[in-house]
Amino acid sequence: MSRIAYVNGRYRPHRDAVIPVEDRGYQFADGVYEVCEVREARLVDERRHMARLVRSLGEVRIRLPMPLSALSVVLHETVRRNRVRNGIVYLQITRGVARRDFAFPAPAPAPSIVVTARSHDHVKAEKMATEGIAVITVADGRWARPDIKSVSLLPNVLAKQVAREAGAREAWLIDAEGFVTEGASSNAWIITTDGEVVTRPADNSILSGISRAVVLDAMAARGLSFTERPFTVAEAQAAREAFITAASQIVQPVTSIDGKPVGDGRPGPIALGLRREFHRHAEFT
Ligand code: PLP
Repeated sequence: MSRIAYVNGRYRPHRDAVIPVEDRGYQFADGVYEVCEVREARLVDERRHMARLVRSLGEVRIRLPMPLSALSVVLHETVRRNRVRNGIVYLQITRGVARRDFAFPAPAPAPSIVVTARSHDHVKAEKMATEGIAVITVADGRWARPDIKSVSLLPNVLAKQVAREAGAREAWLIDAEGFVTEGASSNAWIITTDGEVVTRPADNSILSGISRAVVLDAMAARGLSFTERPFTVAEAQAAREAFITAASQIVQPVTSIDGKPVGDGRPGPIALGLRREFHRHAEFT
């Protein structure tokens, strides 16, 4: 079955799904994106993802090209046409097509929209969670606004490649003071030996993860206390547990950081419990 993409009003096979060379997403990474988990053919936390999309668009002054209700139809239809039961749906909106010039084109072109969907291997994902993942650390070389879900991801790409070459699944990005900001494509968490669950506050230095918000809800429901504060690599390596959160991963236990085992080097019970409970605290549409 060929995969289908939605591109500017039409559903096309991927091989025919094209964007003009002067699209500003292609030329300047002048756009934003969202990724929602798809579970049992439904979208997970669409409302919160769309609220973040609207915020990202507002921060870079791109208009929402269609009402959220119409966008919701496109997201669901792309999932349906690709027969995705479990996987992700990807949405990208750029400032549109115009002759190459740095400042915003005037008059503003119609923003470009692309939506794709793909299945993931549920069994493989569960296996990874029972084994845990290795993380390495690299300097956070991103711009000052990682809170905007921009398609400009070159530092994240380079960090992920360093991780891959080291045999790790994720790179944790380290700020100038030696604190972990977040993963290259996830939020970072630790549970200290005192049982304190710690994650960095969602200020401008990180993306305010939707899965992060769901996990905070899950912890509040369990009566687990948590602290939003920065933590260092040394603190993370000495932690009882560590994990990452992202829509495509839910909760993924971290079992080593820069080659040092976290806790006993196996996925921790709190991370695994939060993974099991996650969808009870999410919304489905
Ligand atoms: N931080 C970064 C840099 C990300 O790219 C992502 C997800 O792609 C996240 C955090 C997690 O966000 P969410 O839970 O909304 O997927």
